[in-house]
Formats: sequence, C-alpha cells, structure tokens
Amino acid sequence: MAIEFLTWSDVEHGRCDTVSPLIRRVIAPNPGPYTYTGTGTYIVGHGEVAIIDPGPDDDTHVDALLAATAGETVSHIVVTHTHRDHSPASRALASETGAAIVGCAPHPPEDTGSDLHEGEADDGVAGEEPGDFHFLADRELHHGDRVRGTSFTLEAVATPGHISNHLCFALVEEEALFTGDHVMGWSTTVIPQPAGDLRQYLRSLELVIERSDERFLPTHGPVIDEPVRFAEALLAHRRQRERQIVEQLRLGSRSIPEIVAALYVGLDERLHRAAGASVQSHLVALCADGTVDHDADGDTYRLS
Ligand SMILES: [Zn+2]
Repeated sequence: MAIEFLTWSDVEHGRCDTVSPLIRRVIAPNPGPYTYTGTGTYIVGHGEVAIIDPGPDDDTHVDALLAATAGETVSHIVVTHTHRDHSPASRALASETGAAIVGCAPHPPEDTGSDLHEGEADDGVAGEEPGDFHFLADRELHHGDRVRGTSFTLEAVATPGHISNHLCFALVEEEALFTGDHVMGWSTTVIPQPAGDLRQYLRSLELVIERSDERFLPTHGPVIDEPVRFAEALLAHRRQRERQIVEQLRLGSRSIPEIVAALYVGLDERLHRAAGASVQSHLVALCADGTVDHDADGDTYRLS
C-alpha cells in the first residue's frame, strides 16, 4: 500500500488561519527538513483558549500567537513532546500570558543530545530537531488526563515511539486528534535513537487507528481528513520495510549502508543518512526481538 503524502502551498508564517469552528493555526517561520513549512501551532477554543505546541524559541512566532489571541485568555499551553521545534516557546508564552504549561514529561535523559541530533541539523537531511532539555510542565499529563476550558476539552493520548514522552491530544468536542509528530501528512516520522522506539511507535500507530477520530491535526503540514486510511498505510509501509530488511540480511547484507544501497535504489546521496537512521531503527527493534544479532564491533548485523 503506497502512502499518499499530503502537501500544501498556501503558507504564510505568522498568519492565523481558521481550521474548524474551535481550531485556529499559526505557522512558525522555521521551515526545514524535519519541520516541512514550519511548526503549526494550534489555538483551541474561543475566549478562553489553549495553545498546542507553541513552537521554537522565536520572538516573531510568540508575538504572532499573542496577536492571534489578543482579548482572549490563554488558559493552557499544551506540549506534545520536547523537540526544539515544539516546546521552547512555552516559556515566553507562559510569562506573557500567565497560562499553565501542561503536557509531556521532561526530555528523556537517555537522549544525550549528541552528534546524531546536533550535528545533523546542519547538513539538513537526517535525524530530528534536538531536544529541549529545559522543558518542565507545570502539570505533567498522562494517558487519559484531561484539561478543560469553557469551550474545549483536551484529552491526553500517550503515543511513545518518535520519542518516549510523546502525547497526542484529542479535542473531544470535534472528535479531532492533535497528533504532534506521531502522524504527519507530509512525511513519515523519524524514530531517532536512542529516545525513539520503533516497536512502541507501531503500537502507538495501532492505538490511534483504533480510535474513531474524524481528523488528525499534525504539528507539521496539512490536516489529515482520512486518518485511519492514512495511518494504516504508514503501518503497512513500516511492516513492509521490516520484511525487506530481514530479506536483505538473509541475502547477505551485513551493514546499514549495504541495506540502504539495496533498498533505496536511486536515492539522493544526501538522504542516505536519513535512510540509514530509518534502517537502524528497524535493526534495533529486530535485535531486541531476538530476530537479528548485532556483532560486537557494532556495525554488522546477521539473522539470529
Ligand atoms: Zn519531534
């Protein structure tokens, strides 16, 4: 099953767009290889509002959010996870509005924030936005916890995988799910090591497929209007990739570059590291399952 990715073109950073009766969106000026056209910050409710994924530490974006909510009360700043394109603006926004910061746990300590993340931000093709180690919610939310305003109810849905602290948020009044980086219409989700976990990610995909939400609203890119079909295509894609990797190991491939060369024929050289990171996330999971053994040198793999 091929994934039909979604694109959009009518993007103006800082403009406030109406997405649905209860939802508005302002896109931050941080377009890039992991952020597509930029972080899409959602404003939920009217009069008393929640702001979901306030975005990067960028004064222009915070000012745009303050302008979009002028005359209203921001009651909650809601954060899906601690990548730097999602959570850092929570501090400036909280100090300007007095709103409570609620949502995910602090950045996972096992993510050392080392070379994989920081280094690869520059070459612009692999990895993921680095971690926001300063994030601390006033109230940490867990699966099923709710936050309420006069016109909205948001319920946390634990969706580890992209990163262990990832939460989606259901808007009960509209049967809509804010999916953060868990499900995005424009791209597959990177599962960076060591804070990502492919097995958890696949379980979290099954979890959001089982829900009956009308729409998914990712933090990057357009609304997903056929969420179940889209998420099922993502799941099928990952399962097919895993079968292909096992098959390549059976045929004699031993390293990540060999597997990338076999499976991503014709891929732009600059994307090989990103493809390698994806293959690695599968190999880590296959090793944990006991399907694959990892040689002591760390670079070669074989079927168990
Ligand atoms: Zn992320």
